[in-house]
Amino acid sequence: MKTDPDCIFCKIVAGAIPCFKLYEDGETLAFMDINPVHDGHCLIIPKAHYPTLFVLPAEAFAAAGRTAIKVATAVNAALAPDGLNLVQSNGPGAAQSVPHFHLHVLPRRMGDGLAVNWQLKPGEHARIAETAERIRARI
Ligand code: AMP
Ligand code: ZN
Repeated sequence: MKTDPDCIFCKIVAGAIPCFKLYEDGETLAFMDINPVHDGHCLIIPKAHYPTLFVLPAEAFAAAGRTAIKVATAVNAALAPDGLNLVQSNGPGAAQSVPHFHLHVLPRRMGDGLAVNWQLKPGEHARIAETAERIRARI
């Protein structure tokens, strides 16, 4: 499996740094975003290191898509947002900050005014952990 010792998401996959894990299977991992735009903001990654969509094998995209359906459905059931975006960024112009392919699962509220390139702001860990528990209960 491709891995990069300097990549923060590869370190999460390896268990070298912690995460609020929601789900994993052989190919993918889902965990809470540590700078949530809204409660329930989480990420789906292939376990293998591919920096962007442009180098991602179709099978890895399919595996991430299967996990995204599972986790987004759980977020929707647990938190009942008004809507939900899947967001995926490639390169600095798209505000990609971690070069390991990922899908954002982003619950939305009516009128939240969120721009596509939001600012990163640290979340409160106790609140993220509690939200993760609610989502896990629905997976
Ligand atoms: P992007 O800007 O689209 O590359 O998204 C990267 C996301 O990874 C951002 O929303 C960050 O908040 C998130 N992130 C970075 N480091 C961590 C981490 N250690 N645990 C959870 N989320 C992280
Ligand atoms: Zn990586």
